[in-house]
Parts: sequence; C-alpha cells; structure tokens
Amino acid sequence: MPEHSSGETARRTGFSITCRALEKSYRIPDGPPQKVLSGVDLKVEAGEWLVLMGDSGSGKSTFLNLLAGIDTIDSGSMLLGDLPWHTRNDDERTRFRRLHMGFVFQFYNLFPTLTVLENVALPLKLAGPVLPSDRTRPRDLVAAVGLSGKEKKYPSELSGGEQQRVAIARALVHRPRLVLADEPTGSLDHQTGRTVLTLISSLRADFSPTIIMSTHSREVAQSGDRILFIRDGVIQSETSGSLPSMTAGR
Ligand code: ADP
Ligand code: MG
Repeated sequence: MPEHSSGETARRTGFSITCRALEKSYRIPDGPPQKVLSGVDLKVEAGEWLVLMGDSGSGKSTFLNLLAGIDTIDSGSMLLGDLPWHTRNDDERTRFRRLHMGFVFQFYNLFPTLTVLENVALPLKLAGPVLPSDRTRPRDLVAAVGLSGKEKKYPSELSGGEQQRVAIARALVHRPRLVLADEPTGSLDHQTGRTVLTLISSLRADFSPTIIMSTHSREVAQSGDRILFIRDGVIQSETSGSLPSMTAGR
C-alpha cells in the first residue's frame, strides 16, 4: 500500500478491509469493562459502499473510529489492503489518515473560522504539498456540490444541508481511499438527505473509494452495495431483503 502524494491525479481505488476476531471494550471508572465489539470478522471489497446499521449504542461509531484509527482495538486484527492497520502507532495513523481517509459526520464538523473554500481545501493542505494539477480541485468540488458563489461564506451563513455538502466536498477533495460517514444524513430533512447521497454517489465515480456509512434510515441503507448490521457485538452482512426485520423494534 504505497503512501500516495495528495496531488496524485491518477485514478485511485479504495482499500479492501479485513477484520479478524476484533474485540473492543470500554472501561468506565469503577465499572466492569463494557464489551462493544466481540469477535468481529469482516471482509470488505475494494470500492464497496457499505451501510452500517444497528441500534443506538450498538457500536457503529466505535467501529468507524477504529477504522479511522482514532481509537484502537483491544485484540484481533484489522488490515487495510494487505497492511496491518492495528499495529501502527499514533503518528503513523495520523499521517496515513490525512492521506487516505475522508470523514463525514452527522453534525458536519466544519471549521467555523474558515470559509467554505478553505474548509474544502484543508485536507489537501494537510496531506502535503498541493500539486498544480490539484489547485483547482477545491473550487471544482464546491461547484460539484452545488455551492458555486458561496466559496467565501462561513459555515454559520449556510443551511444544514449546505454545510453537509461542504463536508462531503471536504471529505472527498484529496481522493481518499476510504470514506467514513457517521450518520451523515441524520440531521437533514428527507429531500436534503437524498441530495447528499446522490452527491456522494456521483463523486465516487471519479476515484472509487471504499465507503462505510452508518445510518438509522432504511432508505439510506438502500443506497449502499451491502448492509452490515451490528448486533450483540458482532457484525453481520445482510441482504437488503432482510431490512424490515433488521429495523423492527427500533
Ligand atoms: P452507536 O454509534 O452505534 O450509537 P457507539 O459506538 O457510540 O454506538 O457506542 C457503543 C457503546 O460504547 C455505547 O454503550 C457507548 O456508551 C460506549 N462508548 C462509546 N465510546 C465510549 C468511550 N469513549 N468511553 C466509554 N464508553 C464508550
Ligand atoms: Mg454513533
């Protein structure tokens, strides 16, 4: 898995992901360890769009954070492509994350003191020197998400849907090989949520990242190639035909 420069313009493809016997618990002061993931075995193909479902508290955000390397597993293994991800140290994970991963959060997490264009350009800057061929990319992506003319606005001047579109442009600007999205439509109305999914779908055609997206919405779940369901600490792959029973009781 070579560490590409951020300015690489060649087509990039997503990582495959392999998890074996993954375990993760949290320790709460004065309490017993709380097991969140308990023996997760999972294979994700390069370029797949997976949707992660499960009750609140089932471990969706925990799993995304482990993939992002923001948090670390207790035991088992996690490979990105062929390389072990779980054995990398904090600095390596940070560097690698900046080069290869993009995030979309439920509440956008834009930098309030940066403009739309500056927010979108930030991952390219963090990833390393910006090649001449990439200098127009932030502006192009702002246009691609339908925000031309708003480049100099600040997040507080935008609607929630517009902020999420900025967050999507930001997550994809450096052509990451893995896109992680934690309930990205959870704060949006139905129509705006659909717009956001359509955008992700169209922008992904450019460089085919692997996408893992958590959601509570059955409709959002159907936008993916495959649905994963977290239950009792394990992740099972489900077909869309089993969706009604998956969400029963919610
Ligand atoms: P979901 O995203 O599916 O709602 P989470 O991954 O946020 O679930 O949480 C799974 C469980 O782990 C919850 O019971 C939550 O309270 C617990 N948890 C998550 N993060 C931490 C943490 N940093 N410290 C302690 N417990 C945590
Ligand atoms: Mg969560």
